[in-house]
Amino acid sequence: MQTKFKILAADKLAKEGMDYLLSQPDLELTVKPGLGEDELAKIVGEYDGMVVRSGVRITPRVLENPGRLKAIARAGVGVDNIDLEAATNKGILVLNSAEASTITTAEHAFALLMALARHIGQAYKTMSQGGWDREKFQGVQLSGKTLGVIGFGRIGRTVAERALAFGMQVIAYDPFINAPTALDGQVKMFSVLEDLLPHADILTFHVPLNDQTRGLLNDRTFRLCRKGVLVVNAARGGIVDEQALLAALDSGQCAGAALDVFSVEPPPADSPLRKHPRVLVTPHLGASTIEAQQAVSVDAATALLAYLRGEGLRGAVNVAGLRLDLDPLQKLFVDLAQRMARLISPLVTGGVARVTVELSGPQLATAAGTIERLSLIGLLQDHLDVPLNLVNVRHVAEQRGIMLRTVTMEEGHLQGPQVAIEVEPTGGATAQASPRIVGRVYHDMRPRVVEISGYHMDIVPAGVMVLVVNEDQPGMLGLVGTEFGQAGINIADMAISRRASTALMVIKADTEPPASLLNRLRHRPGILRVVMVKLPEEPRQTPRIS
Ligand code: NAD
Repeated sequence: MQTKFKILAADKLAKEGMDYLLSQPDLELTVKPGLGEDELAKIVGEYDGMVVRSGVRITPRVLENPGRLKAIARAGVGVDNIDLEAATNKGILVLNSAEASTITTAEHAFALLMALARHIGQAYKTMSQGGWDREKFQGVQLSGKTLGVIGFGRIGRTVAERALAFGMQVIAYDPFINAPTALDGQVKMFSVLEDLLPHADILTFHVPLNDQTRGLLNDRTFRLCRKGVLVVNAARGGIVDEQALLAALDSGQCAGAALDVFSVEPPPADSPLRKHPRVLVTPHLGASTIEAQQAVSVDAATALLAYLRGEGLRGAVNVAGLRLDLDPLQKLFVDLAQRMARLISPLVTGGVARVTVELSGPQLATAAGTIERLSLIGLLQDHLDVPLNLVNVRHVAEQRGIMLRTVTMEEGHLQGPQVAIEVEPTGGATAQASPRIVGRVYHDMRPRVVEISGYHMDIVPAGVMVLVVNEDQPGMLGLVGTEFGQAGINIADMAISRRASTALMVIKADTEPPASLLNRLRHRPGILRVVMVKLPEEPRQTPRIS
């Protein structure tokens, strides 16, 4: 029977979050808010997971001996109270509950958009001051207008869905989404902002603030917009350059803007943005709803449990690109890549300089981070004495100077999606010393290895597998078969492939061959290399990832 997950609530959680945790039969909850560093460090290793808010400080000292701790969930967004570097070093996943405010923030952005189109703010202001001006506040209809969504992540998509329901055309810019359309073909995607701008009547921003996005809408990019463009920013202040916005409003290039966020919050009392007749402002209310505030604690608790149960990964803060919410085909490829990596791991001699993971086929793009991490674990685990997991593997590889490269490519005409892993050893690449393995999943949904270092084959990587590299000369197959037979080891399946003057036999055995057999083979003339790998049996159902 699965033992219960032990969870520590190290801060006081909202009632909804506590109720959720208490209702789960497979966990044991301990509530200990207000612990100091030393007290927490002493007990932290007894728990599988921790839920925190912003009170408790998770320092490197707290995580020094993490014992069985696998994940820390922050009920809320900011993770300033958690030392992410220390958590990553120890292989501990840090989650937050940014998703809990997705709908709430999207609704606020949409409310701003509607208010902007119909001058609700100014109309209210005029009426509240005793006025009545119908002509001045004639608006525009949203239906039929084109909305440009900048940043097509959680909130951007949610805004887009609402805009489609309002009869708007939606186009989006997100350089990290490599697809011509999104939302079932309803949204045209652009990978260059400048290409989108001339087509949008209204722009709404949903990107994180960083060096690439600061001032994304500036004097230059404003000039590429349609004259009279409307602008909504409910992401972060500074993404729309405030001076450029004021200039565009004055010149008429921008007909109006709605801002929930500002480069300085609160903006100075005399900020022209506060009083501009064509700017609608709200004081960073995007995530401010009763539902979102309650949802953060439930969300943190469910995300933590889903991860511990191996059911999925949401809200990961210290593992960029990792996803566990994969579709069945992606899961098969993730499992296949891990098997492939383990299969070629013994062929890696000496240090590893670079690992390249090549993914062909758009179906695999969203699984790239997960495939990369699991491939690395498969490749490196036997060569390192640090226990590797999905959280720390990238970090450990980088600390050791191993370069990582994941390339996503168009799918080849004939073969369908494919994954390849190539290892470049330290000291430079040579054909023998740079193991490369290629795998596919065909329509029968069975994983196959189709190439190892230029030797072609078609074999399911599962169970006990022995790789024999030999000189391509008569009698080698007989020799190997006889040795296996004499040792009483049944060969279940085999692939033989030749290249130049050497050949590779990939043998699947029913039972594990003894070391003596492998050593005998290694000393037979014509045999160049023998390695054995034990892989899990072939999955009968879609594999679980955790
Ligand atoms: P997300 O991570 O789900 O989506 C962000 C998207 O931006 C991703 O798809 C990413 O690929 C894209 N992106 C990254 N760099 C880009 C670039 N240079 N150009 C274009 N696209 C780029 O995040 P989310 O949850 O949708 O949040 C979006 C923004 O909203 C964040 O800045 C967040 O801080 C902000 N936010 C504001 C409030 C509020 O109270 N107003 C509340 C919640 C979130």
